[in-house]
Amino acid sequence: MSTVEINNLIKKYGSFEAVKGISFDINEGEIFGLIGPNGAGKTTTLRVVSTLLQINSGNIKILEYDLKTQPDKIRKIISYLPEDAGAYKTLTGRAYLKFIAKFFIEKNTNELINKGIEIADLGSRIDDKVDTYSKGMKRRLLVGRALMTKPKFAILDEPTSGLDVINAQEIRQIIKNFAQQGTTILLSSHNMLEVEYLCHRIALIDNGIIIEKGKPKDLMIKYKSNNIEEVFTKVVK
Ligand code: ATP
Repeated sequence: MSTVEINNLIKKYGSFEAVKGISFDINEGEIFGLIGPNGAGKTTTLRVVSTLLQINSGNIKILEYDLKTQPDKIRKIISYLPEDAGAYKTLTGRAYLKFIAKFFIEKNTNELINKGIEIADLGSRIDDKVDTYSKGMKRRLLVGRALMTKPKFAILDEPTSGLDVINAQEIRQIIKNFAQQGTTILLSSHNMLEVEYLCHRIALIDNGIIIEKGKPKDLMIKYKSNNIEEVFTKVVK
């Protein structure tokens, strides 16, 4: 069963069409990657799917809900990690997670907070203020925030951007584990190694149009390429 169904999505900014009628499905527990050059329409698509931007045309279904008519229902089952997300600088990491947890449930937030702390894995620094964190530490805290609710569907815009090799690997493993436990994931990335390692299927988007779609292995065969970076350079001219 598909968790997400996107049909002929069009999103305009004023008269400019940033996304020009894209369609794809994501199955339960699948990690689906959106890749493409700068300005291709990846973030726009993720923001639309997250209910933050309104659709101009097309349909999006997430589980049994329609995005246009039931955005409130959808907000309860999804989690969105923006590309440029920030956390409240004057709070400690722990206080930030607590603050966010209260949006989801009023009482007994400890389980959620502990899950966030476990994912962020910042050791004793979780009790330091966010403005003392490095870029990577902030990103880990935000990944913890995005996944602590064990969402049915997580939308992750460049989840490992700014992370060093080891931290990025750990976050990828966490994303994989969530998918194995049934979370459906839509992510964008400029890191083709990451995409190859993580994604069951990918869509290559350019100028607001999906120009290729499929399993990384199948695309490598189709384009006689050794890796997705080569596929990317052959498809995006
Ligand atoms: P990147 O890899 O650089 O993050 P992207 O694929 O995420 O790029 P988007 O941010 O979705 O691309 O942008 C798609 C197009 O829409 C670009 O041409 C961009 O300039 C335009 N765009 C994005 N946000 C706005 C906005 N708020 N107002 C007007 N145009 C916008």
